[in-house]
Amino acid sequence: MILEIVKYGHPVLRKKGERIESITPEIKKLIADMFDTMKENHGVGLAAQQVGVAKQLTVIDVREITDRPSTLELDGKPADVTSIMPLVLINPLVTPAGDAVSGGEGCLSFPEIFAEISRPGTVDVKALDAKGKPIEFRCGGLLARAVQHETDHLNGLLFIDRMDKKTKAELQPELDDLQAETKKALSKK
Ligand code: ZN
Repeated sequence: MILEIVKYGHPVLRKKGERIESITPEIKKLIADMFDTMKENHGVGLAAQQVGVAKQLTVIDVREITDRPSTLELDGKPADVTSIMPLVLINPLVTPAGDAVSGGEGCLSFPEIFAEISRPGTVDVKALDAKGKPIEFRCGGLLARAVQHETDHLNGLLFIDRMDKKTKAELQPELDDLQAETKKALSKK
């Protein structure tokens, strides 16, 4: 089922997600719906907050992006990125494992807003998968960027919080418009 994606200005985007303690039928349904919603909107990642649910759950799939490579290491050895796609991360813990690199980012909660964001180029990830099984990997490139962008959402952080001051100042009028539009739509519900 395709869910509505909440936009900047909706308070749920600022909520820290609750940890998920067990994979209930509701969580399984939410995961399936989040994949449907992400694919429909041609996204690389989607966090539960973006469909109005403040939980530590995100879905990621970088396979459609061919011009921005990703890297993966499992047990210290290079591995095929597609082997862990599509990726579900529950209660993820992300630790920087490399120098910061700048790269373009967008967000389905910020339509038509794009910016260069600096983030560690490589990260270590510990999480639970869709079955509640612990997973651990190191990743780089687009996948590392997506994992960090989505994990930020789970903590109520947004990519505008990671922009440098000049970039954010330039985008401020668009951000203010989007926020006002969202609040107006919410007040009518
Ligand atoms: Zn986002």
